[in-house]
Amino acid sequence: MAKNNDTKGPVLDLIGGVKKKKADPAPKAEAAPAPRKAAAKEQTAKKEALDLLAPRKNVRKPQPEAATPAPAPAPAPATQPAPVQEAPAAEPGKVMNIKAPISVADLATLMGMKPFKLIAELLPMGVFANPGTTLDSDQVAALCEKHGFTYERVRREKGAGVKAPVEEIKEPEAVAVEEEPEDSLKVRTPIITVMGHVDHGKTSLLDYIRRTKVTAGEAGGITQHIGAYTVEHAGNTLTFIDTPGHAIFTEMRARGADVTDIVVLVVAANDGIMPQTKEAIMHAKAAGKTIIVAVNKCDLPAADPVRVRTQLMENDLMPTDFGGEIECVDVSAHTGAGIDDLLDLLCLQAEVLELKANPRANCRASIIEARMEQGKGSSATVIVQSGTLKVGMPFICGPYSGKVKTMLDDKGQRIKKVTPGMPAEVSGFLETPNVGDELVEMENERAARKLSDERLEELRQQRLTAPRRSRMEDILAMMGDGTQKAVLKLYLKGDVQGSVEAIKKAIMDIESDKVECQFIGAAAGPISESDILLASSSDAVILGFNVKVESNAVKAVKREGVQVKIFSIVYELIDQVKDAMLGLLEPETRETVLGHAEIKQVFKLNKGKAAGSYVSDGKMLRTAEARVLRDGQVVFDGKMSTLRRFQDEVEEVKAGLECGIRLADYNDYEVGDVIECYSLEKIKQTL
Ligand code: GDP
Repeated sequence: MAKNNDTKGPVLDLIGGVKKKKADPAPKAEAAPAPRKAAAKEQTAKKEALDLLAPRKNVRKPQPEAATPAPAPAPAPATQPAPVQEAPAAEPGKVMNIKAPISVADLATLMGMKPFKLIAELLPMGVFANPGTTLDSDQVAALCEKHGFTYERVRREKGAGVKAPVEEIKEPEAVAVEEEPEDSLKVRTPIITVMGHVDHGKTSLLDYIRRTKVTAGEAGGITQHIGAYTVEHAGNTLTFIDTPGHAIFTEMRARGADVTDIVVLVVAANDGIMPQTKEAIMHAKAAGKTIIVAVNKCDLPAADPVRVRTQLMENDLMPTDFGGEIECVDVSAHTGAGIDDLLDLLCLQAEVLELKANPRANCRASIIEARMEQGKGSSATVIVQSGTLKVGMPFICGPYSGKVKTMLDDKGQRIKKVTPGMPAEVSGFLETPNVGDELVEMENERAARKLSDERLEELRQQRLTAPRRSRMEDILAMMGDGTQKAVLKLYLKGDVQGSVEAIKKAIMDIESDKVECQFIGAAAGPISESDILLASSSDAVILGFNVKVESNAVKAVKREGVQVKIFSIVYELIDQVKDAMLGLLEPETRETVLGHAEIKQVFKLNKGKAAGSYVSDGKMLRTAEARVLRDGQVVFDGKMSTLRRFQDEVEEVKAGLECGIRLADYNDYEVGDVIECYSLEKIKQTL
């Protein structure tokens, strides 16, 4: 089966880079401590570390770099950074009444220092700042303490200037829906997603339900496309997500928003289970969702609903007609036959699931669609998960703050409030949110803006230290204290079903006391973007055997940070999994940050540009890797090509000195950018 060519091992090992905003498990209240607490803890630790480094309190630190200005970086002659006008020094030991958040530049002025000095001091605290970066209270406190000032926070309110105790902004994550008293919980509308193979009638089914079941009378009973709609059936309300298929479902899960309660799996009775039906089953199962099967096109003479049930059994879905637990209903999206039965089943299933939410809780809603319209600004379709969304409500959504301006229901009518399980189109976003972001009610706009500042800062940090997804090499490290088995989640794609089955069986037969293998899926066909999203949302590693990676999937790999390993020899694949389970695979590369330099001036050369920079910490090494950070975001990542002191090419420049830097063929340097120099140590080549 395996082509025995001379390719050794996997022919490709795609390793994801920066992980795009993966919604932290934190938004689900039961997971992880509130990020703000964690951040505060970290800040305290950083502060303590700074305390150790800091000289005696109330003694102003000397500023050697200011006193010993180094000559210009080569090759331009007049490269001395323009002198920064220092504000009169504030007296150390003095009580500083500061309104945090405050920009680095403003704080520097208050402290009588140069902004770049504070920027350099923020680096060891993990903050890559520029003069405009806003600093939170903890960061301001750490810097004040370092320079011997006593920091007192001033309240940023109408009566600003009045000293007040530090006010805590309530992180909405701390409000747990689960902790709501039982008697405050009310039954909520179930949210349904339709999935299945292309052309099996998903859209027709959604259209039929919308056409025939929307309450007559309201705006002529015609629904607007807002991404979701509700229908009334036998005294119950049901919410359907109007974009069929598993792409949006998995994309939302990959971002941490899991809104769907029930999946309707559409299978055409004349066609039976097809590849995308299998994918949909895999996605719904990975998410642990209740599945109801709609056997569609039963009006066709070629319809064979019994064969569909047999095929379902072969795919581990045992229909109730055969004594199992999966409800199947024969329908026709053309004639409408069986649709009422399907809706009955959905109502019943919703009842079984006991879906409840507190309409008085702090409001949370998930973004299921978002758009930006010229002249109208950003709007989004949301589905409320708890609490009640109201016009005028201040909120935080992803990293941005906002305030609900207008709301429309699925009939295009203006509404003032939306209860749990219900969709609405909302305007009032500062920036277009991402699908899967969570909108959370805030006490007031100021608190929302403050939290937005914090989240944006957190995002910047995350981009710099992107958490990697599960990797085979790291599996044993996930075991913690070793008392529990680590779980290696795998998603296998192979050239033909036969090889997929054989490889899956061989892997399942590997015995290990330390690691358990779980397949979140195994199928034939190329690796698609949706495979990557599924692996990302399930934290799985993708193994490919003799398959291609589709071009969209390559982009998704980079974005999601999923590990993909492609093999062309079966035993190599099995051996790698075995080695991973025995902890024999070592990490391939280790990154060590060597130092940072701030760009003070940009010089035009005959060819390209050079960055006249000041090394603020560590060192710059000519042979190392380097990335350019702008406002904390990576704008270039590559190799250092030239490093100069005066006219000389040098191998190394230490902290406190100035130098000229060129990076590969990069030329878009800007004053204020930070160049981070790092080394990559190859530990073991797994290819
Ligand atoms: P989707 O790709 O799953 O959204 O499928 P569509 O809803 O676009 O349907 C694909 C084709 O099947 C269209 O030509 C529909 O008219 C047809 N179709 C959908 N449902 C039925 C049905 O119940 N009976 C029949 N005879 N045709 C159907």
